[in-house]
Amino acid sequence: MAAFCVSCGNPLADGARFCTKCGATQPAAVAPVQTPAPVAPVPSKGSSTGMKILIGVLAFFMFLILVVAGSCVYIGYRVRQKAHEFSKSMGGDAKPYTGRRQPCAMLSTSEASSALGQAVASVEQRGTMSCEYTFGSSGKHFDIITPGKTAESRWGSLAAP
Ligand SMILES: [Zn+2]
Repeated sequence: MAAFCVSCGNPLADGARFCTKCGATQPAAVAPVQTPAPVAPVPSKGSSTGMKILIGVLAFFMFLILVVAGSCVYIGYRVRQKAHEFSKSMGGDAKPYTGRRQPCAMLSTSEASSALGQAVASVEQRGTMSCEYTFGSSGKHFDIITPGKTAESRWGSLAAP
């Protein structure tokens, strides 16, 4: 932008603050140009700060969701692991009890008598998974429930009347 000295009219270089001929101070044409520059970034800076806060809040919630989801997955994994260990301890990869086995056949009358220390008066099958042993003089009994096929589970329920 061509400029001239306000005092003597001497041509000035762009942005010159003083006349090279008379030394008069020139009303800076640069100043008005600089003014809008700081004004413009203010709203954009403000909105970018807002965006940063929004992104920060969203990131925080994402983090919370990840933590919650992660712990759920971890708990699920632990439960599965526990169930696997349990099924392993209950007889490895053997198939679960299917109901064809006779529960009363798992514990004979003489076995039950020696285990109880009393003579078994009667043995009665109840359904497909339990067997009731009646013993003693007062008609006490206990039930054997066979949800699985292991030797331990046949003693799973030893209930007094
Ligand atoms: Zn001048």
